[in-house]
Amino acid sequence: MKALAAAGLLAITLVSVEDEIAIGRQANAQVRKQVPEMRDDQTIAYVRAIGQRLVRQAPGPKYPYSFSAADYREINAFALPGGPIWIHRGVLHSATTESQVAGVLAHEIAHIAQRHAADQLTNATLTNLGLSLLGSVLGNSGGAGAAQIAAGFLANGVFLKFSRDDEREADRVGLDILRRAGWDGRGMVELFEILRRESARDPGSVEVFFSSHPSPQDRIARLQADVKRRPGGTRDSRQFQQIKARLLRMPAPRAMPRT
Ligand SMILES: [Zn+2]
Repeated sequence: MKALAAAGLLAITLVSVEDEIAIGRQANAQVRKQVPEMRDDQTIAYVRAIGQRLVRQAPGPKYPYSFSAADYREINAFALPGGPIWIHRGVLHSATTESQVAGVLAHEIAHIAQRHAADQLTNATLTNLGLSLLGSVLGNSGGAGAAQIAAGFLANGVFLKFSRDDEREADRVGLDILRRAGWDGRGMVELFEILRRESARDPGSVEVFFSSHPSPQDRIARLQADVKRRPGGTRDSRQFQQIKARLLRMPAPRAMPRT
């Protein structure tokens, strides 16, 4: 079974879209309890507006995408199965244009649209938890089984560990989503450049990101040629600069607790 799962042969059939959504809902409820969620209406409305504009261009199942912001200074974002996406306030502070923020969200949307979580769930379930647990999820969609699986995986940080291939695909599909939604693809590359600079200046602020993603160097190299070939699209907005100025006036974001 392990070999089949590793080959991706079981990924699509073992975890349905409905299962993914149910597990993601449970996981999101857990995240809400653990993470300081930003409540500033203007910031949240802004992040959601960008997210929804990108979602309209996403391939794949019609997942119930949602967007939340964590009041953390570290530059990071993450996607839970079936729709929930979180962005750290640190991304909004570090970005210099709207297209960079949109690039981060587009990458996370691509993870969900390409069903990377379903692959991870299938592999991890078969490897670590045994088939009985998976059976309980499948036989009990949205019920106690989903809650159990979500809690178990979240505790192990499994949702944050996509494969290198998944990351490459999320960059590629994310760039496509970003462009189709009308933003300049350079935003995505520029954010990796910011990450690279920050890692030299303040390694702690990007550590979480690097623990779950390939180095920006590799990603910049891969995306740059493609981005140069097809320039154009929105780079920035007055709204982004207003939100950024607003955030800078607020108390500074917190540092993530060390685990
Ligand atoms: Zn990723």
